[in-house]
Amino acid sequence: MMTRNDCLARDAADPLAPLRDQFELPQGVIYLDGNSLGARPKAALARAQQVIAQEWGIDLVRSWNLAGWFDLPSRLGDKLAPLIGAAPGQVVVTDSTSVNLFKALAAALQMQAVDPATAARRVIVTERANFPTDIYIAQGLIQWLQRGYTLRLVDGPEQLATSIDADVALVMLTHVNYRSGHLHDMQALTDHAHAQSALITWDLAHSAGAVPLDLTACDADFAVGCTYKYLNGGPGSPAFIWVHPRHQAAFRNPLSGWWGHAAPFAMQPDFAASAGIRRALCGTQPIVSLALLECGLDVFLQTDMQAIRGKSLALTDLFIALVEARCSAHPLGLVTPRIHAQRGSHVSFTHPHGYAVVQALIARGIIGDYREPEIMRFGFTPLYTRFVDVWDAVDALAQILDQQAYDLAAERDAVT
Ligand SMILES: *Cc1c(COP(=O)(O)O)cnc(C)c1O
Repeated sequence: MMTRNDCLARDAADPLAPLRDQFELPQGVIYLDGNSLGARPKAALARAQQVIAQEWGIDLVRSWNLAGWFDLPSRLGDKLAPLIGAAPGQVVVTDSTSVNLFKALAAALQMQAVDPATAARRVIVTERANFPTDIYIAQGLIQWLQRGYTLRLVDGPEQLATSIDADVALVMLTHVNYRSGHLHDMQALTDHAHAQSALITWDLAHSAGAVPLDLTACDADFAVGCTYKYLNGGPGSPAFIWVHPRHQAAFRNPLSGWWGHAAPFAMQPDFAASAGIRRALCGTQPIVSLALLECGLDVFLQTDMQAIRGKSLALTDLFIALVEARCSAHPLGLVTPRIHAQRGSHVSFTHPHGYAVVQALIARGIIGDYREPEIMRFGFTPLYTRFVDVWDAVDALAQILDQQAYDLAAERDAVT
């Protein structure tokens, strides 16, 4: 059985440990929610100061060129690209994940509709357990199109492959499930979709910066994802969209705003899409927020996703083992797969009083979160989570459960 000293020894031997120093983390807090809102890179404060005081305050409108504001969506897209197995010119950082998903779905359905081989197809496949916004966006698009599309909601990852048949125009999947932490086999499901002549869109919200990704090797069609989770871009930092180069020329952005125009400053009355990935842009970007993402991305340049994945699995393995060893008297249920190949970078346990237990942990400075139904969710971010943090978090959890030190009458917050 691991001791706290063993955990300290693992931290001392951890090559990623020094990177923690690049993050602002409050004293007395063990932060296990970087899968929801990543911690702040220390460098972000100086960058914000520069953008607000110098670029906005002094250089004013000249900063669109002088400070490279105009190029920021594609320059940061290029910087993010290696983290998802993409090449420069394939990714832009812009808008929200929900909005980017709308663009990708609309463009994909359009491509299928103009191909005689797939024009009659009317089914979009996704999982019932997908993050709700993904489902809502698909439902909204279907209603708006009024062309008889239906959403096939599949229960459980095992049923996915068989539900992707010759009626399917598009498969819309989230790579790592936000609740269970289940990780899909991107290669196998992409191959399966293509074998049925369906296109596939991957939502990488809980994958980018958490698990190694190779969109190019998997030959996926489209991908979107958040930057404020594992990429530490800051609250509401713009999301990304990737379009496989084979689809770029045919990618028709339904939100054809002037930033996606081939010559935005020609101010012509007719829309002509930009030749490259910038056609996925719509309008003026939130520069302050966008600029801060670079600080998050720069930390990743100092390591690689294989090292991050190795530590992530070590942390989640340790957490599962310690919880099972120390809390076995309590009605906890492991929701997250034990198999490494099926696990993202967070671990979820059910408990009948999960909400109250999470509140008790937060009161002790251990910040995880709660997701309906009954799920306590703990995110492990290898850039700043230590092995000793895992030990201390489980120690607190065991105490809270052993002493029933949680308040069953705790009011539920609107947002946790
Ligand atoms: C977090 C998350 C989102 C968030 O979308 P926003 O548009 O940024 O609010 C979308 N999809 C998935 C799968 C997520 O986990």
